[in-house]
Amino acid sequence: MNRISIGVDLGGTNLRIAAVDEQGALVEKITLGTKVSLGRDHVIDEMCDAIQRVSEKYKDSAPLLGIGIGVPGIIDMQTGLLRESPNLPGWAEYPVRAEIERRLKTIVILENDANVAALGEKWLGAAKDYSDMAMLTLGTGVGGGLVMGGAIWRGANGMAGEFGHTTVEPDGQPCGCGNRGCLEQYASATAVVRMAREAIANNAGTALARAAHADPEFSAKSIYNLAIQGDEDARRIFRQVGRCLGIVLSTLVNSLNLPIYVIGGGVSSAWEAFSPAIFEELRQRSLVYAATAPPDASAIPQGASAVVKAGPGHKTIITRALLGSDAGLYGAARLPMIAEVKR
Ligand SMILES: [Zn+2]
Repeated sequence: MNRISIGVDLGGTNLRIAAVDEQGALVEKITLGTKVSLGRDHVIDEMCDAIQRVSEKYKDSAPLLGIGIGVPGIIDMQTGLLRESPNLPGWAEYPVRAEIERRLKTIVILENDANVAALGEKWLGAAKDYSDMAMLTLGTGVGGGLVMGGAIWRGANGMAGEFGHTTVEPDGQPCGCGNRGCLEQYASATAVVRMAREAIANNAGTALARAAHADPEFSAKSIYNLAIQGDEDARRIFRQVGRCLGIVLSTLVNSLNLPIYVIGGGVSSAWEAFSPAIFEELRQRSLVYAATAPPDASAIPQGASAVVKAGPGHKTIITRALLGSDAGLYGAARLPMIAEVKR
């Protein structure tokens, strides 16, 4: 019998839920529109109600394996407590896992949101033919996830994969983590908007200034639209994004020699604007990349995992994510399935 598990994406703004079967087919997607700002108890009530409805609906045809929840923060896997989560005020040190398990009487697994996005891309996305991969998620911040031997590499404290806080400018922009010049300050959606505003303040971005004035929600997407129209100031910003990503990727490629590195998150839709700078940096900075680059890396289509297989003598693939904002949902749903194999 085909079983399902439920993936939950507990973002900084919205709550999203999907029921997925063991083959990775989406059984049902529940859009609740629940605002995380309404607080922890409200979110847990709505989440449990929705999950109960779905598991009831499929209980005869597809029994529930468990629930996986992607959370922006650091999780203590032993206790199921959220140790630190700046985007979820009121959730830290609350027994999230125990409370949901108590209400739904099923297995609940919490995992960092960037890790579940990596697991989703490994299971069904750009890295599905590989057992080792790294992923960078370019959203409000920059998340990182590492999958080794098909499983999330959590490190000794569950804190592995913080690629977004790698230094790219030694005395650069201060970062929320306490460091200066982190990748997150140059490759997140927040950073793209900040760099555009800096260009405007320096009187460099005429078209940028017009767009910022006309659009109260001046976003990374509006800046990308200018870049694809050929605006040089907007293009320069995405070259900086690509350059900084290339610096971090060259360290990852040199240290890990993985077969594939996947770039996801909202900003990755600007791939055409920033990826040429990634490949330029990689060729200059990484001897491992120079030795293993595909003949024309920038021409490899997204999700090209089937084109160049991993293994000795094979190539290093840097590519776009395939699952978009659903990577985290699929990855979260995958958690109980993997846990069951281990049991
Ligand atoms: Zn940082």
